[in-house]
Amino acid sequence: MGTIFSKSKRGRSKFSLEDIGIKEKKLSELVPEKLLRKSEIGLPDLNESLVVRHYTNLARKNYGVDNGIYPLGSCTMKYNPKVNEEIAKYNCFTDIHPYQDISDIQGSLAVMYELGELLKQIIGLAGVTLQPSAGAHGELCGLLIAKKYFNNKKEDRTKVLIPDSAHGTNFASAAMAGYEVIEVKSNRSGTIDLESLKEIIIKESDSIALIMITNPNTLGIFESDILNISKIMHDNGSLLYYDGANLNAILGLARPGDMGFDIVHLNLHKSFSTPHGGGGPGAGPVLVTKRLKGYLPVPVVGKDGKRYFLNYNVRNTIGKIKSFYGNFSVCLKAYCYLLSSGKELKNISIDAILNANYLKKKLSKLFDIPYKKNIMHEFVMSAKKYKDKGGSALNIAKRLIDYGIHPPTIYFPPIVEEAMMIEPTETENIESLDNLTEVFSKIVKEIERNPEVLKNAPIGAGTKRVDELKAVKKPILKE
Ligand SMILES: *Cc1c(COP(=O)(O)O)cnc(C)c1O
Repeated sequence: MGTIFSKSKRGRSKFSLEDIGIKEKKLSELVPEKLLRKSEIGLPDLNESLVVRHYTNLARKNYGVDNGIYPLGSCTMKYNPKVNEEIAKYNCFTDIHPYQDISDIQGSLAVMYELGELLKQIIGLAGVTLQPSAGAHGELCGLLIAKKYFNNKKEDRTKVLIPDSAHGTNFASAAMAGYEVIEVKSNRSGTIDLESLKEIIIKESDSIALIMITNPNTLGIFESDILNISKIMHDNGSLLYYDGANLNAILGLARPGDMGFDIVHLNLHKSFSTPHGGGGPGAGPVLVTKRLKGYLPVPVVGKDGKRYFLNYNVRNTIGKIKSFYGNFSVCLKAYCYLLSSGKELKNISIDAILNANYLKKKLSKLFDIPYKKNIMHEFVMSAKKYKDKGGSALNIAKRLIDYGIHPPTIYFPPIVEEAMMIEPTETENIESLDNLTEVFSKIVKEIERNPEVLKNAPIGAGTKRVDELKAVKKPILKE
């Protein structure tokens, strides 16, 4: 449909400074000559109706949770109540400034403080910062806290353990924080192999700072050995880090603090009511045990009687991890979501688990599901048996688009061949899950009868299949 610039024609905007009584000459009287632009700014010349049509048509090409199911595993793409967006738009929240005197912003500080208190209860830990702006940023923050903690104890721990099923950000954050990574193998049921873990501990002993665990892990499986793992790590003087991206599976049912975790990051944009996917603002609060509270980034929001304040006096703080206090509007939406969920919080996870298990059962008739036991809110199936016939995970994903469904996460986690990782979330109903199964079943029939159609998919999406490598290296953003 072309960019807005391709629709520009000189004179179409019909807007001129002369219309409001400013002649060009007068402009130079109003603005010092040296500040006046010498050349045209290059904005497209369009009237209002063309601009509205352009963006409306563009928006209609989009697909989001407001259009239909978005089963992107690990990402937790669920419907977020619009009322929270409305509240986040209130002037009393949008018209404040971080440099304002704290006596003027007691309400906003209360939101941050009270959100922190709720998160502490949900996670079962004693300290919290809302500063990091996403999960990966929270990982970095948590790892820097661990680093400073060991430095202060004069312990030279340089290594981090990460299971082979973990998200790529875990490896990247550990490297950014200056740690060496040791990968821990999964066993046949998809969880951490205790024997391999013990072997690593014997070999590396006090060089290990911590282990990063996602629980349930990225196969959707709960690490039922977590208390043993926790004991092994703590006996070795190491810490446990919890990647909270899968919190949607355990809300109100289990707490990372009770499992023995020392540092936890959350992704408010996955678990608590912030739409995401376009690189918009997120928030990755970090929670820590009592002994690590003194390492949190400053300022920490505090409360003294009825007065809220910003505490810069944190003994061993790692400093600042982000300007000001974090992405406030994301935190605000999470606070509203938690208050409106109240005691029903655990139903979010119960429904998410039920939906995933229902889909797993139905789709296991069509696809192999290599790790099936103890599935929580997501599962991973393999398209391996269809690959040679033209039904690779990629081809199936592209064909789903033609049926009006957003594809699941593919080729992750890497321990499953031709992986398709499905997370229906709690906000889908049974009709929507049945429809997804039916579409997969149609595609499987196509693989058997007419696989060509998959190779060319998507055919009805307004764009052909993009060459993903070229799209990254030589993007053409104009057409
Ligand atoms: C999304 C995700 C992350 C990273 O979180 P961001 O908020 O995208 O930075 C880390 N681990 C897992 C398992 C995830 O799904």
